[in-house]
Amino acid sequence: ARSFFSNDMIFNPQEYAIPDRSGEPFIDGQEIEKFLAAHVRPSREEVLETVARAMDRERLSLSQVAVLLGAGPQEREAVLEAASRLKREVYGNRIVLFAPLYVGNRCTNRCAYCSFRADSTETVRKTLSDEEIVREVEALERAGHKRLILVYGEHPLYDPEYIAKTVRITYGVKTAPGGEIRRVNINAAPLTVEGFRTVREAGIGTYQIFQETYHREAYKHYHLGGRKADYDWRLTALDRAMEAGIDDVGLGALLGLHDWRFEIMALVRHTNHLEACFGVGPHTISFPRIKESSASLPAASPVSDEDFIYAIAVLRLAVPYTGLILTAREPAAVRDAAIRYGVSQIDGGTRLEIGSYSSAAAPDEELGSRQFAINDDRSLDEIIGTLTAEGYLPSFCTACYRRGRTGEHFMEFSVPGFIKRFCGPNAILTLAEYLSDYASEGVASKGWAAIETALAGLPAASAELTRERLERIRAGERDLYF
Ligand code: SAM
Ligand code: SF4
Repeated sequence: ARSFFSNDMIFNPQEYAIPDRSGEPFIDGQEIEKFLAAHVRPSREEVLETVARAMDRERLSLSQVAVLLGAGPQEREAVLEAASRLKREVYGNRIVLFAPLYVGNRCTNRCAYCSFRADSTETVRKTLSDEEIVREVEALERAGHKRLILVYGEHPLYDPEYIAKTVRITYGVKTAPGGEIRRVNINAAPLTVEGFRTVREAGIGTYQIFQETYHREAYKHYHLGGRKADYDWRLTALDRAMEAGIDDVGLGALLGLHDWRFEIMALVRHTNHLEACFGVGPHTISFPRIKESSASLPAASPVSDEDFIYAIAVLRLAVPYTGLILTAREPAAVRDAAIRYGVSQIDGGTRLEIGSYSSAAAPDEELGSRQFAINDDRSLDEIIGTLTAEGYLPSFCTACYRRGRTGEHFMEFSVPGFIKRFCGPNAILTLAEYLSDYASEGVASKGWAAIETALAGLPAASAELTRERLERIRAGERDLYF
Protein backbone atom coordinates (compact mmCIF):
# COMPACT_ATOMS: atom_id res chain seq x y z
CA ALA A 1 0.00 0.00 0.00
CA ARG A 2 1.13 3.54 -0.62
CA SER A 3 2.16 5.29 2.54
CA PHE A 4 -0.23 7.93 3.78
CA PHE A 5 2.33 10.67 3.50
CA SER A 6 3.67 9.68 0.13
CA ASN A 7 4.52 12.95 -1.57
CA ASP A 8 3.26 11.56 -4.81
CA MET A 9 -0.22 10.75 -3.68
CA ILE A 10 -3.26 11.74 -5.65
CA PHE A 11 -6.17 12.75 -3.49
CA ASN A 12 -8.72 10.02 -3.10
CA PRO A 13 -11.08 10.48 -0.18
CA GLN A 14 -11.77 6.76 0.24
CA GLU A 15 -8.13 5.98 0.44
CA TYR A 16 -6.97 8.85 2.58
CA ALA A 17 -9.77 10.05 4.78
CA ILE A 18 -9.08 8.02 7.90
CA PRO A 19 -5.82 8.60 9.74
CA ASP A 20 -5.55 12.01 11.28
CA ARG A 21 -1.95 12.99 10.76
CA SER A 22 -2.68 16.67 10.70
CA GLY A 23 -0.45 19.08 12.52
CA GLU A 24 2.72 17.30 11.41
CA PRO A 25 5.36 18.85 9.21
CA PHE A 26 4.59 17.35 5.83
CA ILE A 27 6.76 19.13 3.30
CA ASP A 28 9.71 16.98 2.28
CA GLY A 29 11.98 19.38 0.43
CA GLN A 30 14.41 16.72 -0.72
CA GLU A 31 11.64 14.70 -2.25
CA ILE A 32 10.30 17.76 -4.06
CA GLU A 33 13.77 18.46 -5.41
CA LYS A 34 14.06 14.85 -6.53
CA PHE A 35 10.84 15.14 -8.51
CA LEU A 36 11.97 18.38 -10.11
CA ALA A 37 15.39 16.96 -11.00
CA ALA A 38 13.79 13.89 -12.56
CA HIS A 39 11.71 16.00 -14.93
CA VAL A 40 13.97 18.65 -16.38
CA ARG A 41 12.91 19.11 -20.02
CA PRO A 42 10.58 16.11 -20.22
CA SER A 43 9.71 14.76 -23.66
CA ARG A 44 6.92 16.36 -25.67
CA GLU A 45 4.85 13.17 -25.32
CA GLU A 46 5.17 13.25 -21.57
CA VAL A 47 4.05 16.87 -21.36
CA LEU A 48 1.13 16.37 -23.73
CA GLU A 49 0.04 13.25 -21.89
CA THR A 50 0.06 15.14 -18.59
CA VAL A 51 -1.86 18.04 -20.11
CA ALA A 52 -4.43 15.58 -21.50
CA ARG A 53 -4.90 14.10 -18.04
CA ALA A 54 -5.55 17.49 -16.54
CA MET A 55 -7.99 18.30 -19.32
CA ASP A 56 -9.79 15.03 -18.60
CA ARG A 57 -10.37 16.52 -15.16
CA GLU A 58 -8.01 14.10 -13.44
CA ARG A 59 -5.93 15.31 -10.53
CA LEU A 60 -2.21 15.39 -11.20
CA SER A 61 0.30 13.71 -8.93
CA LEU A 62 3.31 15.67 -7.72
CA SER A 63 5.61 14.10 -10.29
CA GLN A 64 3.16 15.04 -13.03
CA VAL A 65 3.19 18.62 -11.77
CA ALA A 66 7.00 18.44 -11.98
CA VAL A 67 6.66 17.36 -15.62
CA LEU A 68 4.68 20.52 -16.39
CA LEU A 69 7.11 22.71 -14.44
CA GLY A 70 10.11 21.28 -16.31
CA ALA A 71 8.62 21.67 -19.81
CA GLY A 72 10.74 23.40 -22.47
CA PRO A 73 9.62 26.53 -24.36
CA GLN A 74 7.79 24.63 -27.14
CA GLU A 75 5.88 22.45 -24.71
CA ARG A 76 5.04 25.40 -22.48
CA GLU A 77 2.77 26.63 -25.26
CA ALA A 78 0.59 23.54 -24.92
CA VAL A 79 0.38 23.97 -21.15
CA LEU A 80 -0.58 27.65 -21.42
CA GLU A 81 -3.17 26.85 -24.06
CA ALA A 82 -4.72 24.11 -21.93
CA ALA A 83 -4.79 26.28 -18.81
CA SER A 84 -6.59 29.10 -20.58
CA ARG A 85 -9.07 26.61 -22.06
CA LEU A 86 -9.72 25.01 -18.66
CA LYS A 87 -10.13 28.44 -17.08
CA ARG A 88 -12.64 29.49 -19.75
CA GLU A 89 -14.54 26.22 -19.83
CA VAL A 90 -14.83 25.79 -16.09
CA TYR A 91 -14.99 29.30 -14.70
CA GLY A 92 -16.05 31.39 -17.69
CA ASN A 93 -15.25 35.10 -17.71
CA ARG A 94 -16.13 36.02 -14.11
CA ILE A 95 -13.55 37.77 -11.99
CA VAL A 96 -14.08 38.38 -8.27
CA LEU A 97 -13.01 41.71 -6.79
CA PHE A 98 -11.91 42.48 -3.24
CA ALA A 99 -9.82 45.00 -1.32
CA PRO A 100 -7.20 44.56 1.40
CA LEU A 101 -7.54 46.64 4.55
CA TYR A 102 -4.36 46.95 6.59
CA VAL A 103 -5.47 47.22 10.19
CA GLY A 104 -2.11 47.53 11.95
CA ASN A 105 1.56 47.31 11.05
CA ARG A 106 3.13 46.68 14.44
CA CYS A 107 5.19 43.54 14.26
CA THR A 108 7.54 41.54 16.46
CA ASN A 109 9.00 39.51 13.59
CA ARG A 110 11.93 40.30 11.39
CA CYS A 111 11.03 39.12 7.90
CA ALA A 112 13.85 40.42 5.76
CA TYR A 113 11.58 41.43 2.85
CA CYS A 114 8.92 43.29 4.79
CA SER A 115 8.93 46.93 5.85
CA PHE A 116 6.77 46.10 8.89
CA ARG A 117 9.68 44.13 10.38
CA ALA A 118 10.31 44.92 14.02
CA ASP A 119 13.72 46.50 13.44
CA SER A 120 12.62 48.85 10.65
CA THR A 121 13.08 52.39 11.89
CA GLU A 122 11.67 53.99 8.74
CA THR A 123 8.21 52.54 9.12
CA VAL A 124 5.62 54.74 10.78
CA ARG A 125 3.73 52.45 13.17
CA LYS A 126 0.01 52.64 13.13
CA THR A 127 -2.95 50.63 14.36
CA LEU A 128 -6.41 51.74 13.33
CA SER A 129 -8.69 52.70 16.21
CA ASP A 130 -12.26 51.35 16.17
CA GLU A 131 -13.47 54.67 14.76
CA GLU A 132 -10.78 54.65 12.10
CA ILE A 133 -11.75 51.14 11.04
CA VAL A 134 -15.34 52.35 10.65
CA ARG A 135 -14.17 55.28 8.51
CA GLU A 136 -12.00 53.06 6.32
CA VAL A 137 -14.79 50.53 5.82
CA GLU A 138 -17.24 53.30 5.01
CA ALA A 139 -14.86 54.60 2.35
CA LEU A 140 -14.46 51.09 0.91
CA GLU A 141 -18.22 50.59 0.85
CA ARG A 142 -18.66 53.94 -0.87
CA ALA A 143 -16.26 52.77 -3.56
CA GLY A 144 -18.52 49.74 -4.04
CA HIS A 145 -16.63 46.99 -2.23
CA LYS A 146 -18.43 44.01 -0.68
CA ARG A 147 -15.48 41.73 0.11
CA LEU A 148 -12.49 42.69 2.24
CA ILE A 149 -9.41 41.02 3.59
CA LEU A 150 -8.16 42.48 6.87
CA VAL A 151 -4.38 42.32 7.26
CA TYR A 152 -2.39 42.51 10.51
CA GLY A 153 1.26 42.39 11.56
CA GLU A 154 2.18 39.83 14.22
CA HIS A 155 2.07 41.58 17.58
CA PRO A 156 0.61 40.94 21.04
CA LEU A 157 -1.83 43.79 20.35
CA TYR A 158 -3.37 41.79 17.53
CA ASP A 159 -4.51 38.83 19.58
CA PRO A 160 -7.51 36.66 18.63
CA GLU A 161 -9.96 38.81 20.60
CA TYR A 162 -8.69 41.93 18.88
CA ILE A 163 -8.89 40.33 15.43
CA ALA A 164 -12.41 39.08 16.17
CA LYS A 165 -13.40 42.56 17.32
CA THR A 166 -12.13 44.21 14.12
CA VAL A 167 -14.01 41.65 12.02
CA ARG A 168 -17.23 42.37 13.90
CA ILE A 169 -16.75 46.12 13.54
CA THR A 170 -16.29 45.66 9.80
CA TYR A 171 -19.48 43.62 9.40
CA GLY A 172 -21.37 46.24 11.38
CA VAL A 173 -20.57 49.18 9.10
CA LYS A 174 -23.51 50.08 6.84
CA THR A 175 -23.66 52.98 4.41
CA ALA A 176 -26.45 54.23 2.16
CA PRO A 177 -27.75 53.10 -0.30
CA GLY A 178 -26.92 49.45 0.32
CA GLY A 179 -23.30 49.55 1.38
CA GLU A 180 -22.12 46.68 3.55
CA ILE A 181 -19.23 44.25 3.69
CA ARG A 182 -20.64 40.80 3.15
CA ARG A 183 -17.51 38.76 3.52
CA VAL A 184 -14.54 39.58 5.75
CA ASN A 185 -11.45 37.44 5.18
CA ILE A 186 -8.33 37.78 7.30
CA ASN A 187 -4.60 37.49 6.74
CA ALA A 188 -3.00 37.18 10.15
CA ALA A 189 -0.23 35.37 11.97
CA PRO A 190 -0.73 31.71 13.02
CA LEU A 191 -2.89 31.20 16.11
CA THR A 192 -3.52 28.35 18.49
CA VAL A 193 -6.60 26.16 17.95
CA GLU A 194 -8.30 28.15 20.72
CA GLY A 195 -7.38 31.44 19.02
CA PHE A 196 -8.72 30.22 15.71
CA ARG A 197 -12.02 29.32 17.40
CA THR A 198 -12.28 32.89 18.64
CA VAL A 199 -11.83 34.40 15.18
CA ARG A 200 -14.11 31.81 13.59
CA GLU A 201 -16.90 32.90 15.90
CA ALA A 202 -16.63 36.42 14.51
CA GLY A 203 -17.75 34.99 11.17
CA ILE A 204 -14.60 35.26 9.08
CA GLY A 205 -14.76 34.09 5.49
CA THR A 206 -11.30 32.80 4.59
CA TYR A 207 -8.35 32.57 6.97
CA GLN A 208 -5.33 33.20 4.83
CA ILE A 209 -1.68 32.72 5.60
CA PHE A 210 1.33 32.42 3.33
CA GLN A 211 4.23 30.11 4.08
CA GLU A 212 6.36 32.66 2.14
CA THR A 213 8.88 29.96 1.17
CA TYR A 214 8.42 26.24 1.73
CA HIS A 215 12.18 25.73 1.48
CA ARG A 216 13.53 25.35 5.03
CA GLU A 217 16.95 26.86 4.41
CA ALA A 218 15.62 29.81 2.45
CA TYR A 219 12.98 30.28 5.14
CA LYS A 220 15.68 30.52 7.78
CA HIS A 221 17.62 33.00 5.68
CA TYR A 222 14.69 35.43 5.40
CA HIS A 223 13.03 35.03 8.78
CA LEU A 224 15.51 36.52 11.15
CA GLY A 225 13.60 36.74 14.36
CA GLY A 226 10.31 36.54 16.20
CA ARG A 227 7.76 33.74 16.34
CA LYS A 228 7.63 33.57 12.57
CA ALA A 229 11.18 32.23 12.47
CA ASP A 230 9.64 28.88 13.46
CA TYR A 231 8.92 27.25 10.08
CA ASP A 232 6.82 24.41 11.48
CA TRP A 233 4.58 26.60 13.63
CA ARG A 234 3.65 28.44 10.47
CA LEU A 235 3.42 25.38 8.22
CA THR A 236 0.92 23.73 10.54
CA ALA A 237 -1.22 26.85 11.06
CA LEU A 238 -3.90 25.75 8.63
CA ASP A 239 -4.18 22.36 10.32
CA ARG A 240 -4.97 24.17 13.58
CA ALA A 241 -7.41 26.45 11.77
CA MET A 242 -9.18 23.41 10.32
CA GLU A 243 -9.19 21.74 13.69
CA ALA A 244 -10.89 24.82 15.07
CA GLY A 245 -13.61 24.45 12.45
CA ILE A 246 -12.42 27.03 9.93
CA ASP A 247 -12.85 25.00 6.78
CA ASP A 248 -12.21 27.90 4.47
CA VAL A 249 -8.50 28.62 4.28
CA GLY A 250 -6.08 30.21 1.86
CA LEU A 251 -2.46 29.35 1.36
CA GLY A 252 0.31 31.09 -0.50
CA ALA A 253 3.97 31.58 -1.24
CA LEU A 254 5.91 34.81 -1.64
CA LEU A 255 7.62 34.26 -4.97
CA GLY A 256 11.19 35.44 -5.23
CA LEU A 257 12.64 33.95 -2.06
CA HIS A 258 13.45 30.56 -3.55
CA ASP A 259 13.08 28.65 -6.85
CA TRP A 260 9.47 29.23 -7.98
CA ARG A 261 9.16 25.68 -9.26
CA PHE A 262 9.85 24.38 -5.77
CA GLU A 263 7.20 26.67 -4.31
CA ILE A 264 4.56 25.58 -6.82
CA MET A 265 5.26 21.92 -6.00
CA ALA A 266 5.00 22.68 -2.30
CA LEU A 267 1.72 24.57 -2.72
CA VAL A 268 0.27 21.53 -4.46
CA ARG A 269 1.67 19.29 -1.71
CA HIS A 270 0.12 21.50 0.96
CA THR A 271 -3.20 21.30 -0.90
CA ASN A 272 -3.01 17.50 -1.00
CA HIS A 273 -2.20 17.43 2.70
CA LEU A 274 -5.27 19.44 3.67
CA GLU A 275 -7.51 17.41 1.36
CA ALA A 276 -6.18 14.18 2.80
CA CYS A 277 -6.43 15.19 6.44
CA PHE A 278 -9.60 17.25 6.45
CA GLY A 279 -11.44 16.27 3.27
CA VAL A 280 -11.30 19.84 2.00
CA GLY A 281 -8.54 21.65 0.18
CA PRO A 282 -7.71 25.35 0.39
CA HIS A 283 -10.31 27.74 -0.93
CA THR A 284 -7.64 29.95 -2.47
CA ILE A 285 -3.95 30.08 -3.28
CA SER A 286 -1.99 33.34 -3.52
CA PHE A 287 1.46 33.82 -5.02
CA PRO A 288 2.54 37.43 -4.60
CA ARG A 289 5.84 38.34 -6.19
CA ILE A 290 8.11 40.14 -3.81
CA LYS A 291 7.90 43.90 -4.28
CA GLU A 292 10.24 46.67 -3.37
CA SER A 293 10.06 47.65 0.26
CA SER A 294 12.19 49.49 2.75
CA ALA A 295 13.53 46.14 3.95
CA SER A 296 17.10 45.19 3.24
CA LEU A 297 17.39 41.73 1.69
CA PRO A 298 16.65 41.62 -2.04
CA ALA A 299 14.84 38.68 -3.69
CA ALA A 300 17.33 35.88 -4.22
CA SER A 301 15.31 34.20 -6.95
CA PRO A 302 13.32 36.86 -8.81
CA VAL A 303 10.59 35.45 -11.05
CA SER A 304 10.29 36.83 -14.59
CA ASP A 305 6.88 37.80 -15.96
CA GLU A 306 7.01 34.84 -18.30
CA ASP A 307 7.74 32.33 -15.55
CA PHE A 308 5.16 33.97 -13.30
CA ILE A 309 2.39 33.50 -15.87
CA TYR A 310 3.57 29.98 -16.56
CA ALA A 311 3.48 29.14 -12.84
CA ILE A 312 -0.14 30.32 -12.74
CA ALA A 313 -1.01 28.12 -15.71
CA VAL A 314 0.56 25.06 -14.05
CA LEU A 315 -1.34 25.74 -10.82
CA ARG A 316 -4.58 26.09 -12.77
CA LEU A 317 -4.09 22.60 -14.20
CA ALA A 318 -2.76 21.08 -10.97
CA VAL A 319 -5.43 22.34 -8.56
CA PRO A 320 -8.41 22.95 -10.82
CA TYR A 321 -10.90 23.71 -8.05
CA THR A 322 -8.95 26.18 -6.00
CA GLY A 323 -9.45 29.92 -6.45
CA LEU A 324 -6.28 31.69 -7.55
CA ILE A 325 -5.67 35.19 -6.22
CA LEU A 326 -3.48 37.77 -7.83
CA THR A 327 -2.26 39.94 -4.95
CA ALA A 328 0.02 42.90 -4.57
CA ARG A 329 -1.16 44.62 -7.68
CA GLU A 330 0.82 43.56 -10.69
CA PRO A 331 1.08 45.90 -13.70
CA ALA A 332 -1.92 45.77 -16.05
CA ALA A 333 -0.30 43.59 -18.74
CA VAL A 334 0.72 40.92 -16.24
CA ARG A 335 -2.66 41.06 -14.56
CA ASP A 336 -4.48 40.45 -17.84
CA ALA A 337 -2.35 37.43 -18.72
CA ALA A 338 -2.70 36.11 -15.17
CA ILE A 339 -6.48 36.24 -15.49
CA ARG A 340 -6.39 34.53 -18.88
CA TYR A 341 -4.35 31.61 -17.58
CA GLY A 342 -5.99 30.99 -14.25
CA VAL A 343 -6.46 33.83 -11.77
CA SER A 344 -10.03 34.17 -10.48
CA GLN A 345 -9.78 37.01 -7.92
CA ILE A 346 -8.01 40.37 -7.96
CA ASP A 347 -7.96 43.38 -5.70
CA GLY A 348 -9.28 46.71 -6.92
CA GLY A 349 -8.61 50.27 -5.83
CA THR A 350 -6.03 49.09 -3.29
CA ARG A 351 -4.31 51.55 -0.96
CA LEU A 352 -1.67 50.22 1.35
CA GLU A 353 -0.92 53.25 3.52
CA ILE A 354 -2.69 52.52 6.75
CA GLY A 355 -5.76 54.68 7.06
CA SER A 356 -5.61 55.98 3.51
CA TYR A 357 -8.95 54.80 2.12
CA SER A 358 -10.72 57.46 4.11
CA SER A 359 -8.22 60.30 3.70
CA ALA A 360 -8.10 61.83 0.21
CA ALA A 361 -4.37 62.28 0.40
CA ALA A 362 -2.47 60.40 3.07
CA PRO A 363 -1.34 62.96 5.66
CA ASP A 364 2.41 63.28 5.98
CA GLU A 365 2.68 61.36 9.19
CA GLU A 366 1.04 58.34 7.56
CA LEU A 367 3.38 58.09 4.63
CA GLY A 368 5.78 55.26 5.20
CA SER A 369 3.21 53.07 6.89
CA ARG A 370 2.58 50.89 3.86
CA GLN A 371 4.12 47.50 3.35
CA PHE A 372 5.45 47.69 -0.19
CA ALA A 373 5.08 49.51 -3.49
CA ILE A 374 2.20 48.69 -5.83
CA ASN A 375 2.25 48.99 -9.60
CA ASP A 376 -1.27 49.99 -10.31
CA ASP A 377 -3.15 52.72 -8.53
CA ARG A 378 -6.33 52.75 -10.55
CA SER A 379 -9.62 53.08 -8.72
CA LEU A 380 -12.11 50.22 -8.46
CA ASP A 381 -14.29 52.05 -11.00
CA GLU A 382 -11.47 52.23 -13.55
CA ILE A 383 -10.70 48.56 -13.05
CA ILE A 384 -14.34 47.57 -13.55
CA GLY A 385 -14.40 49.73 -16.68
CA THR A 386 -11.33 47.98 -18.10
CA LEU A 387 -12.51 44.49 -17.15
CA THR A 388 -15.94 44.89 -18.73
CA ALA A 389 -14.43 46.45 -21.87
CA GLU A 390 -12.20 43.40 -22.15
CA GLY A 391 -15.10 40.98 -21.95
CA TYR A 392 -14.81 40.02 -18.26
CA LEU A 393 -17.70 39.92 -15.84
CA PRO A 394 -16.65 41.50 -12.52
CA SER A 395 -18.33 39.89 -9.52
CA PHE A 396 -18.79 40.81 -5.86
CA CYS A 397 -20.62 37.58 -5.12
CA THR A 398 -20.59 36.25 -1.55
CA ALA A 399 -23.53 33.87 -1.93
CA CYS A 400 -21.91 30.50 -1.28
CA TYR A 401 -20.35 31.65 1.95
CA ARG A 402 -23.63 33.08 3.17
CA ARG A 403 -25.70 30.12 2.08
CA GLY A 404 -23.27 27.78 3.83
CA ARG A 405 -22.19 26.25 0.51
CA THR A 406 -18.56 25.51 1.30
CA GLY A 407 -16.28 24.08 -1.34
CA GLU A 408 -17.83 26.36 -3.93
CA HIS A 409 -14.97 26.00 -6.40
CA PHE A 410 -15.27 22.25 -6.15
CA MET A 411 -18.94 22.58 -7.07
CA GLU A 412 -18.19 24.99 -9.88
CA PHE A 413 -15.75 22.46 -11.21
CA SER A 414 -17.68 19.29 -10.76
CA VAL A 415 -21.40 20.02 -10.59
CA PRO A 416 -22.81 20.42 -14.10
CA GLY A 417 -24.72 23.65 -14.46
CA PHE A 418 -23.60 25.07 -11.11
CA ILE A 419 -22.03 28.16 -12.67
CA LYS A 420 -24.98 28.85 -14.92
CA ARG A 421 -27.42 28.54 -12.04
CA PHE A 422 -25.49 30.33 -9.32
CA CYS A 423 -22.18 32.01 -10.14
CA GLY A 424 -23.17 33.69 -13.41
CA PRO A 425 -26.49 35.09 -12.13
CA ASN A 426 -24.90 36.20 -8.84
CA ALA A 427 -22.07 37.94 -10.69
CA ILE A 428 -24.66 39.75 -12.80
CA LEU A 429 -26.71 40.80 -9.76
CA THR A 430 -23.75 42.06 -7.75
CA LEU A 431 -22.37 43.92 -10.76
CA ALA A 432 -25.82 45.49 -11.29
CA GLU A 433 -25.78 46.76 -7.70
CA TYR A 434 -22.35 48.24 -8.28
CA LEU A 435 -23.43 49.92 -11.51
CA SER A 436 -26.60 51.32 -9.93
CA ASP A 437 -24.95 52.65 -6.79
CA TYR A 438 -21.31 53.46 -7.44
CA ALA A 439 -20.21 53.44 -11.09
CA SER A 440 -19.29 56.50 -13.12
CA GLU A 441 -21.46 57.10 -16.17
CA GLY A 442 -19.02 55.65 -18.68
CA VAL A 443 -18.40 52.52 -16.64
CA ALA A 444 -22.12 52.06 -16.02
CA SER A 445 -22.95 51.97 -19.73
CA LYS A 446 -20.13 49.47 -20.43
CA GLY A 447 -21.23 47.44 -17.44
CA TRP A 448 -24.89 47.17 -18.42
CA ALA A 449 -23.77 46.06 -21.89
CA ALA A 450 -21.62 43.38 -20.25
CA ILE A 451 -24.65 42.26 -18.25
CA GLU A 452 -26.73 41.90 -21.43
CA THR A 453 -23.98 39.77 -22.99
CA ALA A 454 -23.77 37.62 -19.87
CA LEU A 455 -27.56 37.14 -19.78
CA ALA A 456 -27.48 36.00 -23.39
CA GLY A 457 -25.02 33.28 -22.37
CA LEU A 458 -27.32 31.84 -19.68
CA PRO A 459 -29.91 29.11 -20.24
CA ALA A 460 -33.35 30.64 -20.78
CA ALA A 461 -34.68 29.68 -17.34
CA SER A 462 -31.70 31.16 -15.45
CA ALA A 463 -31.76 34.27 -17.60
CA GLU A 464 -35.42 34.81 -16.84
CA LEU A 465 -34.96 34.41 -13.09
CA THR A 466 -31.98 36.74 -13.22
CA ARG A 467 -33.86 39.37 -15.25
CA GLU A 468 -36.65 39.32 -12.74
CA ARG A 469 -34.19 40.05 -9.92
CA LEU A 470 -32.43 42.68 -11.99
CA GLU A 471 -35.73 44.51 -12.21
CA ARG A 472 -36.02 44.39 -8.44
CA ILE A 473 -32.50 45.83 -8.13
CA ARG A 474 -33.40 48.62 -10.53
CA ALA A 475 -36.41 49.26 -8.31
CA GLY A 476 -34.15 49.69 -5.28
CA GLU A 477 -33.92 46.23 -3.65
CA ARG A 478 -30.43 45.07 -2.71
CA ASP A 479 -28.58 41.91 -1.79
CA LEU A 480 -30.47 39.47 -4.00
CA TYR A 481 -28.69 36.22 -4.74
CA PHE A 482 -29.17 32.59 -5.63
N1 SAM B 1 1.99 39.44 9.55
C1 SAM B 1 1.26 38.37 8.99
C2 SAM B 1 2.14 37.39 8.29
O1 SAM B 1 3.28 37.69 8.02
O2 SAM B 1 1.62 36.34 7.98
C3 SAM B 1 0.20 38.79 8.00
C4 SAM B 1 0.37 40.05 7.25
S1 SAM B 1 1.72 40.15 6.13
C5 SAM B 1 1.67 41.87 6.06
C6 SAM B 1 0.95 39.56 4.64
C7 SAM B 1 1.86 39.09 3.54
O3 SAM B 1 2.51 40.16 2.90
C8 SAM B 1 2.99 38.20 3.95
O4 SAM B 1 2.55 36.90 4.17
C9 SAM B 1 3.94 38.32 2.76
O5 SAM B 1 3.75 37.23 1.86
C10 SAM B 1 3.52 39.60 2.08
N2 SAM B 1 4.67 40.50 1.93
C11 SAM B 1 5.52 40.94 2.88
N3 SAM B 1 6.48 41.73 2.34
C12 SAM B 1 6.25 41.79 1.02
C13 SAM B 1 6.89 42.44 -0.09
N4 SAM B 1 7.98 43.18 0.08
N5 SAM B 1 6.36 42.26 -1.31
C14 SAM B 1 5.24 41.52 -1.50
N6 SAM B 1 4.60 40.89 -0.50
C15 SAM B 1 5.08 41.02 0.74
FE1 SF4 C 1 5.57 41.10 10.27
FE2 SF4 C 1 4.09 39.76 8.45
FE3 SF4 C 1 5.79 41.71 7.73
FE4 SF4 C 1 6.77 39.46 8.63
S1 SF4 C 1 5.52 39.72 6.75
S2 SF4 C 1 7.48 41.49 9.25
S3 SF4 C 1 5.27 38.90 10.14
S4 SF4 C 1 3.97 41.93 8.93
